[in-house]
Amino acid sequence: MTRPAVETLLSRLAHKFGERLRTDPEALEGVAGDESGLPGCSPAAVIWPRSSEDVAHIAREAAELGVGLVPRGSGTGKAGACIPRPADVVVDFSRMNQILEMRPKDMYAVVQPGVITGDFHAAAADIGFFYPPDPGSWESCSLGGNISTNAGGTRAAKYGSTQRYVWGLEVVLAGGEVLRMGKRSIKGVAGYDLTSLLVGSEGTLGFVTEATMHIIVAPAAVETAWLSFPNMQVASRAAEKIFSAGFVPRVMEIIDKEGLDAVRSVSDLVIEDGVGAALLVELDGPQETTFDGLIRLCEIAVNAGASDSALARKEKDREAMRRTRRLVSTRLKEQFPFKNADDIAVPRSRMAELLDRARELCRDARFCAYGHLGDGNLHVNLLCKTAQELEAAQPLRRKILELTVSMGGTITGEHGIGLAKRDVLDIEQSQELIALQRRIKATLDPYGIMNPGKVFPNNSNHG
Ligand SMILES: Cc1cc2nc3c(=O)[nH]c(=O)nc-3n(C[C@H](O)[C@H](O)[C@H](O)COP(=O)(O)OP(=O)(O)OC[C@H]3O[C@@H](n4cnc5c(N)ncnc54)[C@H](O)[C@@H]3O)c2cc1C
Repeated sequence: MTRPAVETLLSRLAHKFGERLRTDPEALEGVAGDESGLPGCSPAAVIWPRSSEDVAHIAREAAELGVGLVPRGSGTGKAGACIPRPADVVVDFSRMNQILEMRPKDMYAVVQPGVITGDFHAAAADIGFFYPPDPGSWESCSLGGNISTNAGGTRAAKYGSTQRYVWGLEVVLAGGEVLRMGKRSIKGVAGYDLTSLLVGSEGTLGFVTEATMHIIVAPAAVETAWLSFPNMQVASRAAEKIFSAGFVPRVMEIIDKEGLDAVRSVSDLVIEDGVGAALLVELDGPQETTFDGLIRLCEIAVNAGASDSALARKEKDREAMRRTRRLVSTRLKEQFPFKNADDIAVPRSRMAELLDRARELCRDARFCAYGHLGDGNLHVNLLCKTAQELEAAQPLRRKILELTVSMGGTITGEHGIGLAKRDVLDIEQSQELIALQRRIKATLDPYGIMNPGKVFPNNSNHG
């Protein structure tokens, strides 16, 4: 793609899009980066579509000229998957943000991709329903971004990730074809499951312009506890005992000592110096049994070595516990601006072993582990203060990813590959599997214009 090609595209789109097409530095800087920590890059332009017809128009013109298009939700991604190249055009979905239909009787809602996840939670709650996926960025991330990354979150422990809730999609392909796929019924197996193919494809196969999202009846009660432990080994083995006793917590989050140290001064909880690990646990279910269930769960934890268990009796206590967990990532980032964060995942029964072995590997490094113990997804951080430290940490990072894969795990449980992990994808996937995915991409995007340079290794002409 060349600069003249993008100039031609912009001149063709200028009249139709008016103030919804911008090329001024302020607008371009606003869509240059995400939350991955990778350097941003201002694109040639940003466009705000308002309809699938708008998106199809852009895709048709861009295909003809070979201009790269980068879909963007809210830019909270952690893999650099929406970072453009200098001559790309960013297609920003923030103005396609309407909930088009709520159909509780049929357990689905129809949404535009720019709907903020937290707004969708609230809309479902207003009618007594529940949309479980809750990435920590729910206040600002978009459903389109969640679908395109197959976002997880704390409640995936019981309810799974976004993919489980995507029943159908409207998709615009490169070239402008508008396709509807999936279902609006509980069952539906006609043809290949292309909806699932699009979920998690990080904007490389097509634009999501509308989604049919499954919603479920809200649980009557939610109970929350904060459990303190002397160290991560005791905490992770206590969690195993809780699972073995038959509990299915909707949330089971773990934080190590370094994570607790990072949030101690800003948390509303009192975190004693001697505490070496904590679990945030939530149960949901019927009003009559959920609280008693949590008490039994806490007893198991105390018998397994917890030094303290605190139950949230008021909403403000619960929020203090959740907030403390949410703050870990941002506080670490403030203290270690070049931290390397990977979101590895292993079969849940191997979580305690992963924690032991990762810490052993990192014994000479500044290291912090926290995350979604309940679904086997751990955020491992190499705490770097400078770009040089980050560079020097890469061999260790690779060892952690190799260890994870050797344990039957994955190099990314929820954040995706984007730019951040494209050069380590081959640790997990064979060349044949990567080649098959390239062929699938070439079929859906024969022009090679959809989010170029993302996901695939050694494919970089990324600026
Ligand atoms: C504080 C914090 C906490 C987080 N916690 C979690 C967590 O618990 N779990 C988790 O999974 N993630 C988490 N994330 C990462 C991030 O929020 C998710 O990846 C989220 O799904 C990204 O949504 P977004 O709208 O910001 O998408 P963007 O960052 O804008 O885009 C992400 C990807 O989706 C593509 N895309 C966006 N919209 C469309 C569309 N309409 N059509 C096609 N492709 C599209 C983009 O091209 C890109 O590839 C967290 C991030 C932060 C900053």
